[in-house]
Amino acid sequence: MARIRLFRTIDEMQSSSLQWKREGLRVGFVPTMGALHEGHLSLVDMVRPHCDRLVVSVFVNPTQFGPQEDFNRYPRDIDEDLRLLEEGQADAVFAPEIEEIYPKDYATYVEVERLSSVYEGAVRPGHFRGVCTIVAKLFNIVQPDVAAFGQKDAQQVAVLRRMTRDLHFPIQFLVGPTVRESDGLAMSSRNAYLTNEQRSKATVLFRALKAAEACILAGERNADKVREAMRYVFAEVPEFKPDYGDMVSPESFEQGTEMRGEVLLIVAGRIGPVRLIDNLPVSVEP
Ligand code: AMP
Repeated sequence: MARIRLFRTIDEMQSSSLQWKREGLRVGFVPTMGALHEGHLSLVDMVRPHCDRLVVSVFVNPTQFGPQEDFNRYPRDIDEDLRLLEEGQADAVFAPEIEEIYPKDYATYVEVERLSSVYEGAVRPGHFRGVCTIVAKLFNIVQPDVAAFGQKDAQQVAVLRRMTRDLHFPIQFLVGPTVRESDGLAMSSRNAYLTNEQRSKATVLFRALKAAEACILAGERNADKVREAMRYVFAEVPEFKPDYGDMVSPESFEQGTEMRGEVLLIVAGRIGPVRLIDNLPVSVEP
């Protein structure tokens, strides 16, 4: 097996990708912020059959963090990430320095209107502007034919799908299911911040989602009652400070009142200083 290649500069990454494409090879891409876990690796596994060369980016993107957020202490371990990706059979890792991506005179940003200003966008102003900007830049650098994202960040998926469509990136979009710990907690690099006690409380997000899902599957068609089912579970864990627990349309993130077709249950909040999000898609039978 060829060893994984590590690219640090835009030029190296872009010229390799362009060369692969000239050779008729299909390029697959998984953007990440590193501190890789099974959730990230599941995306690598998902995209591999769809491409001939697989690139993973590892870049903790400063423009998607708010001034009070955890940019400085976000976990970073590139050696371990490289080891995992080599095992996972990625071909290349793109891990640039910040100055390579955002030089001093940097001035261009990408913004998807509306969708970016609700839920995660309302709690984290500017977050999706940062996400769209870095993903658009990475698309131009890596030149992928196919890219994979996690359902774990459902609103990010909706925003990036819209950006991909609106800016005419000729890129196939794959979405992988949320990978969870055995007790239901969605895997996240941020889970490493949790103390043991906070870790055991953190299942509240998944339990709230499952309670709301059970309510729908039992035939409840009143959206307010479904939201109430989430709030009951939140109330069992006073350490959890919810930002929202809601039912929305998976594409528009508009608040759902009609219970038909695909709906998306979404939750977010803090336990101590750690902010966690989760979601569950549910098909509503007529
Ligand atoms: P991040 O490194 O947190 O920016 O995540 C990089 C990609 O991995 C994004 O598309 C995430 O949605 C995805 N991801 C993160 N956690 C999970 C998970 N538990 N299951 C599936 N995908 C995930």
